[in-house]
Amino acid sequence: ASIFANVEMAPRDPILGLTEAFKDDTRAEKVNLGVGVYQDDNGKIPLLECVKAAEKARVEAGLPRGYQPIEGAAAYNAAVQNLLFGDDAELVKSGRVITFETLGGTGALKVGGDYLRRLYPEAKLYISDPSWENHRAVFENAGFTVETYAYYDPATRGANFPAMKAALEALPAHSVVVLHACCHNPTGADISESQWGEVVEACRKNDLIPFLDIAYQGFADGPEQDTAAVRMFADSGMQFLVASSFSKNFSLYGERVGALSIVTENKEEAARVLSQVKRVIRTNYSNPPTHGGAVVTAVLNSPELRKQWEGELAAMRQRILDMRHSLVDKLKAAGVEQDFSFITEQRGMFSYTGLTPEHVERMRDEFGIYAVKSGRICLAALNSRNVDYVAKAIATVVS
Ligand code: PLP
Repeated sequence: ASIFANVEMAPRDPILGLTEAFKDDTRAEKVNLGVGVYQDDNGKIPLLECVKAAEKARVEAGLPRGYQPIEGAAAYNAAVQNLLFGDDAELVKSGRVITFETLGGTGALKVGGDYLRRLYPEAKLYISDPSWENHRAVFENAGFTVETYAYYDPATRGANFPAMKAALEALPAHSVVVLHACCHNPTGADISESQWGEVVEACRKNDLIPFLDIAYQGFADGPEQDTAAVRMFADSGMQFLVASSFSKNFSLYGERVGALSIVTENKEEAARVLSQVKRVIRTNYSNPPTHGGAVVTAVLNSPELRKQWEGELAAMRQRILDMRHSLVDKLKAAGVEQDFSFITEQRGMFSYTGLTPEHVERMRDEFGIYAVKSGRICLAALNSRNVDYVAKAIATVVS
């Protein structure tokens, strides 16, 4: 018999499974609101002009493709630190932060998870309820028992901050807490800056291990503004981890460009932690790929290209915001009585619309519009040609 004869079929990834079903749908007017990818007004994933310019220069330079250091390129890691903590950050200058170039934000979460699991084998890990669906799987795969802390309030379609704070305050010391630094996925509901201050305080008081996930830096208010939570943790003097990603804000999804940054107590401690995390990486994928990180570094380190990037990122952010307003206006125009204005308050690519699984099913069956069963939709998949159609479909299923 085959050595694989007893292998069972694994369940499909819920979101990627949605995309497969979407591809098989033959209706011309179909819309995929499931996947978390930015598309332009033509429904295409953009190749940013700043990326195109940096790639051209890189190809023309004809560089050799040697191995990178285990932790990735020093110039890339420095650029990530500046972007997260600020150009003249004290904690960077003092050598307290170490950064690893990883395979996307997912790779950063997994390397950080693997390391923390070795360091604190008894600790549990907590994600928000709800959270990005891969959080649980990645950290369970690292060996953690994953539980949730309260986060979302379906009544207000915002965060339930008192419940979140109470949950954090009840966690035992050295629990790992995964926090969405901005543009919460899947709800789109963020907490305020003063509430972040209380989160930092709760983490400090309880000796928690904060693990910030920032996958949408620049999609709420701007790349600098969106680091507010990261910088509050930095200013607190605590130790913490940050998983960051250039998948979305550079539109480099398939290049797998991310980073894990770890803030330690001092330079000497940083060197010890660095040596251990390198072992985790070395025995996993050895060292990261060259291309994507080099392109991002070239853009961030060139004043001209960086300005261009900020402009292109602002345009993506603005287009999503326009689509949020457009959808809400069109729902109202279609006579929907329910107030959907919360969609314009939520941030990033997603909205928890409050659509039920039955609504979502009808949208798919009757209109060829695909959304996640939870009612999460990706606003970045809307455009000037399909927003009317989507609004009418929602209006039909909710009335
Ligand atoms: N974290 C969150 C909350 C995300 O939504 C995503 C991507 O969807 C990631 C991490 C991972 O991003 P990457 O594609 O860079 O691995």
